[in-house]
Amino acid sequence: MKQVALLGATGSIGRSTLDILARHPDDYGVYALTANTDVEAMARLCERFQPRYAVMNDEAAGTQLRQLLVASNTEVLPAAELAEVAAVAEVDIVVAGIVGAAGLIPTLQAVRAGKRILLANKESLVMAGHLFMSEVKQSGAELLPVDSEHNAIFQCLPREALQSGLSGSGVERILLTGSGGPFRDRDLSTFDSVTPAEAINHPNWEMGPKISVDSATMMNKGLELIEACWLFSVDQADIDIVLHRQSIIHSMVSFSDGSVLAQMGRPDMRTPIAHALAWPQRIDSGVEPLDLVAVSQLNFSRPDYSRYPCLKLAREAWREGGSASVVLNAANEVAVERFLDGQIRFTDIAKLIDSALQKMTVQSIDSIESVLEVDAITRNHCRQAL
Ligand code: NAD
Ligand code: MG
Repeated sequence: MKQVALLGATGSIGRSTLDILARHPDDYGVYALTANTDVEAMARLCERFQPRYAVMNDEAAGTQLRQLLVASNTEVLPAAELAEVAAVAEVDIVVAGIVGAAGLIPTLQAVRAGKRILLANKESLVMAGHLFMSEVKQSGAELLPVDSEHNAIFQCLPREALQSGLSGSGVERILLTGSGGPFRDRDLSTFDSVTPAEAINHPNWEMGPKISVDSATMMNKGLELIEACWLFSVDQADIDIVLHRQSIIHSMVSFSDGSVLAQMGRPDMRTPIAHALAWPQRIDSGVEPLDLVAVSQLNFSRPDYSRYPCLKLAREAWREGGSASVVLNAANEVAVERFLDGQIRFTDIAKLIDSALQKMTVQSIDSIESVLEVDAITRNHCRQAL
């Protein structure tokens, strides 16, 4: 039986993962669950899945959870243990489902401990891809992408391309698909009045609020572009972004002989999570079979940068290199948080990120400490700018 530590258990990725684990109780044990503040949701999960350990990032929430679970088999560890609980010897598989920069250190600890990592937390690669990937090599950790596009690319790439890069593998390009989010058809002149409720109402996927706003600005695709560059050792010039409104094809790989391989499925994160959990085997994920006749149409188009300025900013940040993508990510997190709180307009998100990228001088990144420093300075800069 494989033991699983689930970071971000109360979120959208966390819930999808637990749904799969519940279908395979003889193959996977729930060893540890972690979350930020939602005590009630966590208490329910602990009662149902009986993990050995639970950790809340918020200390007061941890104290409350400890009281609720006093008679249970679950030990509630202090917040300081959140980054360590996934690295212990008993754990085989770590699901990195924390949202944002907060996921960096816990995910990295799991990498250093050489675990199989199911990576949903794309922000950790955007912030520290270079350091992260070299730690993966050193520790022998197995990094399997759960982000649906990257999981699709992983499924379509030949083994030699996964091991040693695209050259010589016959791969020409990676086609990264995106739905275009809720505002792909909205009149551009009304973007100033977009509300948080409209932005998190994604047409195809049910996700947490931050990634939903990222999908509406298409910063999500920008972050995914950077994520793909690190995961598959490619440059952004090797990647085309294609709008595909149905979210049935999750990405594609094109080859020198004219072949194009696509991975398809319903827009349900249980498919990529189950794939990465059992790889190279296949297990039941609970996802209904895809009915292509019912889907009937698959459409493709190019993204328009005037609709999605964040996409352009992400391409620029990758081109700049060094600390630029740390700045991109931190400024985006502050902007999205403020937008969700009703403090700035939807169109201010790209403006704030742009100003942060202009203001902060690009520096080289050689340690996690320097990543965290640039992250903190950028957040400060953005708060002052607002
Ligand atoms: P979510 O908001 O639904 O859940 C986030 C989880 O992280 C929660 O369990 C929360 O308690 C925890 N968390 C938040 N802040 C924390 C902190 N400071 N310390 C510790 N834990 C903290 O988010 P989500 O939609 O599940 O997304 C999680 C990650 O997966 C993101 O990086 C997102 O980009 C990525 N992802 C999500 C989806 C999806 O379908 N939801 C798809 C692809 C990638
Ligand atoms: Mg994705």
